[in-house]
Amino acid sequence: MSAKSFSTVTVATVLIFFLKIQLSRQAPLNGSKWSYIGPDGEKAWPKKYPFCGGVFQSPINFHKDILQYDSNLLPLEFIGYNVPSTDQFTLINNGHSVKMFLSPAMSIRNLPFEYTASQLHLHWGNQNHSKGSEHTISGKHFAAELHIVHYNSEKYPDIAAAMDKADGLAVLAVLLEIGPFNPSYEKIFRHFQNVKYKDQKVLVPGFNIQELLPDRLDEYYRYEGSLTTPPCYPSVLWTVFRYPAKISQEQLLALETAMYCTESDDPEPLEMVDNFRNVQEELYECFCAKKQCRVICVNVKNWKGSSAALYHYKNTAFSFSCTSLCCLFFSCCICAWATVQE
Ligand SMILES: [Zn+2]
Repeated sequence: MSAKSFSTVTVATVLIFFLKIQLSRQAPLNGSKWSYIGPDGEKAWPKKYPFCGGVFQSPINFHKDILQYDSNLLPLEFIGYNVPSTDQFTLINNGHSVKMFLSPAMSIRNLPFEYTASQLHLHWGNQNHSKGSEHTISGKHFAAELHIVHYNSEKYPDIAAAMDKADGLAVLAVLLEIGPFNPSYEKIFRHFQNVKYKDQKVLVPGFNIQELLPDRLDEYYRYEGSLTTPPCYPSVLWTVFRYPAKISQEQLLALETAMYCTESDDPEPLEMVDNFRNVQEELYECFCAKKQCRVICVNVKNWKGSSAALYHYKNTAFSFSCTSLCCLFFSCCICAWATVQE
């Protein structure tokens, strides 16, 4: 073994050791509280959830300096998305968002693994400031954002096992903007009055979930990032569709005003508004010092090489765990060094 390969193995061993310690120190998924405002707001997340202060954090702003065309990216294929109305989804207010559990018969293909659907949920702003998307394009916020969460069912038995693994999750993100009334979104939105308060649930008849996606599915941004809520595991392969879907002003208002983060008997009800995480520019830029370290790829028809489109961010499994660790225990500079060494 050469000196160089020995040092690489040593560095990797030490980093994996620290990563294991870090994972074991993670706060439990339930039991620790977090929020979007107040003392438990996003600035405080890293105290209880160290990955939230780490690398590969989402959401991000897609801007032309970090985007790169990738002709290898294919449009996704949606399997079992057309769920019959005889099946039912459970819609729940979990105190952070409104979430709908999906059928395990739903999956997506044309990613490195097959990913099975788990749930969808939304992020939004408030009625005075309808800028509630998490991802932004050239600095522009959209009104809201839908996330459809899938887990790697080729490698892991369920989402709990997958969610802290580098290749564990794939999330589809649909940006929402104001347009005509959207009857497909209404199949969820019409039930909001039954999930006004935390822990309330209601059954929603099955429908074709693909109706929630934008018309153009062939153009999207692709990158490796994280959960946008604690524990912020850097385990998500993101597909953010370039074109937004549209819902009406009234539908957006219903989303922004219908629900509370608190239970029905709470003496201090807290409106469920502004439940989006801000873009993770600083940590992102830190790693972007070396452009090749974080590049997002695009695949669009009529690509001219300058405008944003369908983007893909590549990194190896090694640099993933390495960089995650580095920002947890050392500094981003050391992290960048280790990645470059590898
Ligand atoms: Zn989300």
